[in-house]
Amino acid sequence: KGTISNAGDVLLLEAMVEAMVNRTCGRCLKAFTGKSTAEVLEKFYPASAENIENDAFIYESDIVDLTEPIRESLLLAEPLQALCRIDCQGLCPVCGADRNKGDCGCDTTTVDPRLAALKQFIKN
Ligand SMILES: [Zn+2]
Ligand SMILES: [Zn+2]
Repeated sequence: KGTISNAGDVLLLEAMVEAMVNRTCGRCLKAFTGKSTAEVLEKFYPASAENIENDAFIYESDIVDLTEPIRESLLLAEPLQALCRIDCQGLCPVCGADRNKGDCGCDTTTVDPRLAALKQFIKN
C-alpha cells in the first residue's frame, strides 16, 4: 500500500510492503514462512534526466517498475537470524536431533575442548 507523488523532477514512492517470506530457521534449520513488513521510500528519476544519483531508480515514459525497490526493502527488513518461533530449541549439538521434537537425552554440558583451557584459566 502506498502512493507515488510527483515532486517536480522526480517521482516519490512511499509505501508499506507486507509479504510472506520463505525463511530457514537459524537454530533448527527448518523451512518456514514468515510475515515481513517493510517501508519503501524511493525516488524515481526520468531516464532522460541528467546527474542521476548512482543507486537511484529510473522510469521510462509512463512505466514505473516497483519490483526492485520493494525487493531491496524486504531484504533489508530481514532479521539476521530468523527463528521459526521465539523459543525454538534448535538442534542438539551432539546428535543433531531437532530438540523441538523432544529431548534426545544427550549430555550437552560438555565443554568444547578448545574452550576447556580457557575455562581452566578463568577458574585460576
Ligand atoms: Zn527453529
Ligand atoms: Zn542429542
